[in-house]
Amino acid sequence: MQLTIAPGDITATHADAVVNAANSTLLGGGGVDGAIHRRGGPEILAECRRLRETDLPEGLPAGQAVATTAGRLPARWVIHTVGPVWAKTIDKSDTLASCYRESLKVAAGLGARTVAFPAISAGIYGWPMEDAARIAVETCHAMADEVGGTVDEVLFVPYGDTAEAAFRAALAHL
Ligand code: ADP
Repeated sequence: MQLTIAPGDITATHADAVVNAANSTLLGGGGVDGAIHRRGGPEILAECRRLRETDLPEGLPAGQAVATTAGRLPARWVIHTVGPVWAKTIDKSDTLASCYRESLKVAAGLGARTVAFPAISAGIYGWPMEDAARIAVETCHAMADEVGGTVDEVLFVPYGDTAEAAFRAALAHL
C-alpha cells in the first residue's frame, strides 16, 4: 500500500474514496466538510440525513466512519469520519488514529483502491498540524497488512504549505 502526498483541494482529488472531516451531526459544517458538500451537491447531504434517520439517530461518534455517495465529486464514495476536538489536557490521539483506521476499513469493505484523506482535526478542531500529520501517516502505514489487499494507495491531501511540510516530514520519518 503506497502512501502519497497530493496537495490541494480534496474535492478535486481523483480517488475512489474521499474522506470527509465531518462533525457528529453529519449535516454539514465548515472547512473541508463544507467544501465537499458544496462541490458534491445535495445527494451527499440527502444520504447523510437518511443515515441519521436510520442507523445513526444520535449522530456519528468521534473516531468512527461511515460511507455515502460522493455525488458530483470525481470520487465514487465519501467516507465521513469525526475527528476529536484537540484538548491541551486530554490526549485524544487514539481517537484521531481511529478515524484513519475506521475510514480505511470502510474503504476496503467498499473495494476502494485509492483513498484520499484531509488532515483530520487539524482545522477548526484545533489539532497541531505536525502532530496530526504524524498520527495520520503512522496510522495508515500500520494498516497496510489489514487493508493493503484492497487499498493500493492512500493519498494525503494537505491544504496549504504548512500542512504540506508537516506531511512530507511525517512521511520522511516513517
Ligand atoms: P476539523 O474540524 O476536523 O478540524 P477542518 O475541515 O476544519 O476539519 O480542517 C481539516 C483540514 O482540512 C485543515 O487542515 C484544513 O485546512 C483542510 N481543508 C479545508 N478545506 C480543504 C479542502 N478543500 N481540501 C483539503 N483540505 C481542506
